[in-house]
Order: sequence, then C-alpha cells, then structure tokens
Amino acid sequence: MHSAAATPTYSQLRERFLATATKHNAQLRHYPHPLKGMQGEDLFTDVAVFAKPGVKKWLVSLSGTHGVEGYYGSMCQTQYMDYLAGKARDEDVGILVVHLINPWGVSWKRRVNEDNMDLNRNYLDFSQPLPENPLYESIHHLFTKECATPEGRKKSNEGWQKKIQEVGYAEVKNKLGAGQYKHQDGLQFGGFGPSWSNITLRSIMQEYLGDSTDAISFDLHTGAGPYGHPMLMAIAEHDYPGIADAQRIYGAWLYTILTGPEQVTDTGISAACTGYTSQAMVDMMQGKRFTQLVVECGTYDSETVGHVAMRDDHFQHLSGELHGKKFDQVKAAILEFFFPTDDDWRELVWVRTRQIFDKALADLSARG
Ligand SMILES: [Zn+2]
Repeated sequence: MHSAAATPTYSQLRERFLATATKHNAQLRHYPHPLKGMQGEDLFTDVAVFAKPGVKKWLVSLSGTHGVEGYYGSMCQTQYMDYLAGKARDEDVGILVVHLINPWGVSWKRRVNEDNMDLNRNYLDFSQPLPENPLYESIHHLFTKECATPEGRKKSNEGWQKKIQEVGYAEVKNKLGAGQYKHQDGLQFGGFGPSWSNITLRSIMQEYLGDSTDAISFDLHTGAGPYGHPMLMAIAEHDYPGIADAQRIYGAWLYTILTGPEQVTDTGISAACTGYTSQAMVDMMQGKRFTQLVVECGTYDSETVGHVAMRDDHFQHLSGELHGKKFDQVKAAILEFFFPTDDDWRELVWVRTRQIFDKALADLSARG
C-alpha cells in the first residue's frame, strides 16, 4: 500500500501543469467550473497553447474525460511540455493542451462528472430521440440508492452475478457500456442534455481550431485492455478521411473501431455506445483535415477489479458518506485501478504516449 501522502490530488496535477506550462512560456486560459472539488478547492479546465499567431496545423491533447483517468493524462501532458522544450520544434505546428476537461471527476476521483454522467456518452444531439438500453433497464434496480446499504449491496451483487451467468460478462459490459439516458442515479448515465464539459470543450475547439486546416487530436484514457498496454484507437460512427491518415502514420499500431448498436470489439472499450467525445470532435472539425484518436492504457482486470471499484464508488456517492475510512478506501481502489502506483506501468504508458504524440507532430510538420 502507498501512503495517503503519496496519493495525488487534483490541485497537485493542476499546480504541476500550470508551473510547467508557465516555465515554457505557454499561453494559458482557465475555464472555471461551477462547483468545488473534494478538498473545497476551485476547479478549472486549463488550456495551454504553444503557437505563433496564425498557425493552421495543430496537435491537440485532451485529458480527464473520465475524471479519474486524468491522473495518467495530466502526467503525460505535463511531461510532454517539458520534453518538447528540449527539442527543436516546427513553429508551423501549434500545440493545444486541454487539461482535465472533467475537473470535478478528477478531484473526486470518479469516472463520471458532477451529474453522474459518463462524458463519453454525452456528445449526442439531444433534440433527437435518445438511445434505449433494454439490458440496462433490466438491471437498473441493482444500482439505486436502496442498494447502498450492506444488505442492499449483497442483493445487488447477487443480481449482477446472475445477469453475468445468463448472458456473459462481455455482453453485459458491452451493452451496459452503451450508456443509458433515463436514470441519473444509475450506471453509465449519458445525460439529459450537454454537460458543462461538453459545452466547454466545444468552446475551446471553436476558439483555437476554428480556422485551422489540419489537426490530430488525442483523448487520453486508462482502464480498458491488458495491464500496461497502451492502445491507440480511432473510434468513430463512420469511416472518415482522417482514419486513412492515422493508418498511414501508425500502421499496425492502430485499432480502428466503428461504433454502432450491434458492434462489438475485443479491445475492452464499448463499441455499442453513442455520444463519444471522438465522434463529436470529428463533427466539430468537418471540412478540415482532421484525425481524432484515443490512447487507452490497460490496467487491471475489468470484471474482478475495475467494475468492482466503479460499483463501490457509485454506491459510496449514493450513500452520501463522503469522508471517513471506507470512503478513503473506495477512492484509493478506484484511483489504483485507473492509475496504478507501479512505476513501470507509469513509465511505459508515458513512453508510448510520447511516441504517439511525436509521430503526429512529425506528420503535421511534413504537410505542406
Ligand atoms: Zn476512459
């Protein structure tokens, strides 16, 4: 076990990020979040920009879509700013670093945001009918506030195991992962409308990339796939020209995943879902030469560790008990799942993420 003092906090990530960006003369913008964090701190999404005026080609990185996964994302974004400072860089390519787009989730060490939403299910057109999720409807009663007692948890766990025996874990995970748009108190809630983070990201993209011609963008995640394996993925509802660029740049490293209600994938992410950040970015960048990619770093086993940690966290917040020994244990477990303390894991995901960023920068640089 690591000591509580070693547990990173949102404020530490932010201080390191801002200090590093400032040291290397980034332009900074701060987007204040309406709520306070776990330690009563103010919350922001921060943006660091390295670009001369009028730059048209951009490397973009985005961290913390799934709050607690931002400990990895922030680490790589901050280290990459340091790394770039020691290298000759093509001034015709701008660097846009969007730090912790779901700062509330980072601070509270949750995958969800302040509305219990999975942000990666929230980028939908809410004027259209929202997707149905019959599998989730059949198990929602296992995840309500009534189940947040020891006795309730026992029943909830039994019901969960029963469903897995009926249809298999992969099916439950894929269908559950598709998101649901009915129960704000449930799992994998996609929202009733656009979240603060959704609106903020759109505004950042418009402001900095509105008149760009070319961009390659990365959404940084952890928690799916085998331990210590950073996967590079193109995730979209339909093929689009940016995927061919990614295939050319990354070759066999790239997993291409087209999503849809009946889609499955063995990468550990859900292919059945809609409302991915990735698709929203592609839509926002229509008419430009744009590639949106996801880096997804595998950690522990999903069924026996990850989903247990996420359900514990879900019930802890439903119970309203937001401090104390049990709360601290739940937070330590979910953080460990999404950001292992293992130095070898951290080094490996950093090296791979740096390589991925470098390839994108080189390709942007080579374009006329
Ligand atoms: Zn994620």
